Amino acid sequence: MPQKLRIYNSLTRQKEDFTPLNPPFVGLYVCGPTVYNFVHLGNVRTFLTFDTLYRYLTHLGFKVRYVRNITDVGHLVGDGDEGEDKIGKMAKLEQIEPMEIVQRYTNDFHQVLEKFNFLPPSIEPTATGHLMEQIEATEALVQKGLAYESNGSVYFDIEKYNKEGNNYGKLSGRNQEDVLNESRDLDGTDEKRNPQDFALWKRAEPEHIMQWNSPWGKGFPGWHLECTCMSTKYLGPEFDIHGGGMDLKFPHHECEVAQGVGLNGKDPVRYWMHSNMLTVNGQKMSKSLGNSFLPGELFAGDHPVLEQAYSPMTTRFFMLQSQYRSTLDFSNDALKAAEKGYKRLINGLRMAKKLVYQTSEVPLDEVKIKDIQKSIDGFYEAINDDLNTAVAIAEMFNLLKYINMLNTGQLPFAALGENVFQSLRSNFILFIEEILGLKEENPEGEQILLGMLELYKEYKANQQYDKVDQIRNCFKEQGLVIRDLKTKLDWAYSE
Ligand code: AMP
Ligand code: ZN
Repeated sequence: MPQKLRIYNSLTRQKEDFTPLNPPFVGLYVCGPTVYNFVHLGNVRTFLTFDTLYRYLTHLGFKVRYVRNITDVGHLVGDGDEGEDKIGKMAKLEQIEPMEIVQRYTNDFHQVLEKFNFLPPSIEPTATGHLMEQIEATEALVQKGLAYESNGSVYFDIEKYNKEGNNYGKLSGRNQEDVLNESRDLDGTDEKRNPQDFALWKRAEPEHIMQWNSPWGKGFPGWHLECTCMSTKYLGPEFDIHGGGMDLKFPHHECEVAQGVGLNGKDPVRYWMHSNMLTVNGQKMSKSLGNSFLPGELFAGDHPVLEQAYSPMTTRFFMLQSQYRSTLDFSNDALKAAEKGYKRLINGLRMAKKLVYQTSEVPLDEVKIKDIQKSIDGFYEAINDDLNTAVAIAEMFNLLKYINMLNTGQLPFAALGENVFQSLRSNFILFIEEILGLKEENPEGEQILLGMLELYKEYKANQQYDKVDQIRNCFKEQGLVIRDLKTKLDWAYSE
């Protein structure tokens, strides 16, 4: 069945069929982290959304160029046009080079994402690696009359932009009054023609440690410009998908639209996708609100809210259980439930990998065959419907039911026929591993466990039940159980 992905486009505020500009190539740009502290689980949720999208587009056969930047300059404390650079501030506090801060937290970011089984992007450009492009873009906007220099800084002129028939606010749905109200009074207002104008280049005060020469004197680029320059450089002036967290829609992405239109006379992005927030008690998880959880705290269970440790794959599964456009609330109970679900699924994955078709003289069970086909189609329909991983996972649990029945012998393989069985098995494995990016976490000790099962079998045959119990307890202490079926002996994760 050819798959047709539909995605919700924040620009048009509706779901649309995804058709790339230049198939089979797809350009995907995702705003990466500002590397001035450890990534928290909220950040992880947004990157997971786009990892899932990247995986699925690749699965559909598209050749995706996935660009995810590293913001290593220009993001100011408070997210506006005034104040210290987030990285510069940390460097001063610790009395080290800003690039040491950048390297430390970039390393952390990579390690965290690897633990969660994220695929690396095709290109990971940095803002400081693209200063020439940002200076050139600023000059071009000044030349076009869409930006002006003021006291060594350069600002984008929103009034002029709108007078030329454009609409600053069209992505976030803000009108001019909203935009004005949301523009901070203190954001360099005296330098700006209008308070809503935003910085393309900022003059650096002597104490600002990250600064470069420019046609306007020493300064540094505005935060919004880097993404315009890097996406244009690697994906072109018009590309397919741009993603990020919902909180970036305004002003960051709104400014990107204006810069792109201003520079190239066309909308830079065809589909804007925004992932919703991970919340804690209904409030956005954020470092500045003091309610953020670090992945390390979760893996160690080292947080007052957590009753135990949770693994990266449990967390990935927890996040996939909700569609990316709904908020997701983080709690110990929700993680505990997710852990159960994840273990059931991985037990199914282990079984599915070992299942081998066996012929027997039973008639085909048409009801079950239809139900299996329905769930396989249902999985695709759910993912095609704006990456609805919540529904897709429910379909997978229906498939799991049949994997379990085949494993216990309750359902003879021949009742499905070889083709349906192979389709069930291969799709189940593909959905879990390739599309949802889940995997078994502790397969290293498999050989030792199998050796222990051999001993268990021997002790049982010799009726040495105290030894049998000892081995059972040993498994239990590791969070595992022995599944002693009539047909086979195996171990599984305790659910
Ligand atoms: P930052 O490093 O703060 O720019 O954030 C990196 C990415 O994580 C951005 O796309 C943000 O929108 C996203 N993000 C930040 N906080 C959350 C949250 N609580 N839930 C989901 N995404 C978030
Ligand atoms: Zn960005």
